[in-house]
Amino acid sequence: MMDFLEDAELDTLAIRAGIQRGPEGEHSEPIFTTSSYVFKSAAEAAARFAGNSPGNVYSRYTNPTVRLFQDRIAALEGAESAVATSSGMAAILSTCMAHLQSGDHVICSRSVFGTTTVWFTRYMEKFGVKVSLVPLTDLDAWRSAVTPKTKLMFLETPSNPLCEVADLGALSALAKQANSLLVVDNCFCTPALQRPLELGADLVVHSATKYLDGQGRCLGGAVVGSTELVDPVLAFIRTCGPTMSPFNAWVFAKGLETLRLRMEAHSSNALKLAEYLAARPEVEKVFYAGLPDHPGHELAKKQQRAFGGVMSFRVKGDKAAAWRFIDAVRIMSLTANLGDAKTTIVHPATTTHGRLAPEEKQAAGITDNLIRVSVGLESPIDLIKDLDRGLAAL
Ligand SMILES: *Cc1c(COP(=O)(O)O)cnc(C)c1O
Repeated sequence: MMDFLEDAELDTLAIRAGIQRGPEGEHSEPIFTTSSYVFKSAAEAAARFAGNSPGNVYSRYTNPTVRLFQDRIAALEGAESAVATSSGMAAILSTCMAHLQSGDHVICSRSVFGTTTVWFTRYMEKFGVKVSLVPLTDLDAWRSAVTPKTKLMFLETPSNPLCEVADLGALSALAKQANSLLVVDNCFCTPALQRPLELGADLVVHSATKYLDGQGRCLGGAVVGSTELVDPVLAFIRTCGPTMSPFNAWVFAKGLETLRLRMEAHSSNALKLAEYLAARPEVEKVFYAGLPDHPGHELAKKQQRAFGGVMSFRVKGDKAAAWRFIDAVRIMSLTANLGDAKTTIVHPATTTHGRLAPEEKQAAGITDNLIRVSVGLESPIDLIKDLDRGLAAL
């Protein structure tokens, strides 16, 4: 990184980190849509292939626009290194393929993105990795799940959709004791609100598809941490190919410029909606760590800069009532995606968490009357009017 940026604040890094201007002196970041690169001589080609000369060879290995995004997200997470991937799931896959082998044991929070659970239980187990699922906030359960073979612990905080908050400091201490890596999916907070590496995590993974883009345009991911731990992931990606496209990298790099402003606005809008719903008699319970009666409130205040944009609530009534609410809103989009400028609403029990068995849903608190909202950047005045349409339909 440029020396004048070494002690820069997050807002400056989000806009300046990773820039390497070309001979044209372009001010804004260009997109390099090229699969390969020309060498000046046979000797230079040989040196680049041998890794003895800086510069690009092929875009599955390196690409200037992808490097820009990698440098910027690494700077924001306060990390030495980052590697970009074609999606958030590719970031999780590549981390596991680089750092696990048959016979290893993984402990994963029960409250992670549904596809992440499928990845660990269906695919990792198929290749001989044993997986234990534990409740996110039950430190004793994490402790008793540790075995001599535990190599990786995986979690998201706050969780989706109930906003439970994990104690990152305590879990990283446990991981160190167990000689295991702690990998945190920082998708919901982003480095604008939470920096897990500072609290002792070893690697951060991202679905850039969500808040890093922030406008729902493309898929991507990243793995962030020390060079020692990121390099094996990079080697896997170079070999196996879940690479980020230069266009997507450009979208994400530009998205990062407004990340903190957006995350603060998402958080402030979400708090307004959560407070509004919590005061309504038609609502049974609101799950948002920004509310003082949420069990994760104090911890979230300590380890996050704000409470984030995702919240959920249970209406008084059954599945039909929840569906009537969802069908009555007009501004909010009915879609499973989140982390968008556009507010989205979804019924977890029949969509994002629909694959869970009834008892798993019960254990995870995914009741039929639960609704999740990813609060966007529209005016909270209009969003509350939209909630009123839902409430009136109950
Ligand atoms: C969406 C999501 C993922 C998967 O990311 P993709 O980009 O869709 O592959 C992983 N973790 C969390 C928390 C997510 O919300």
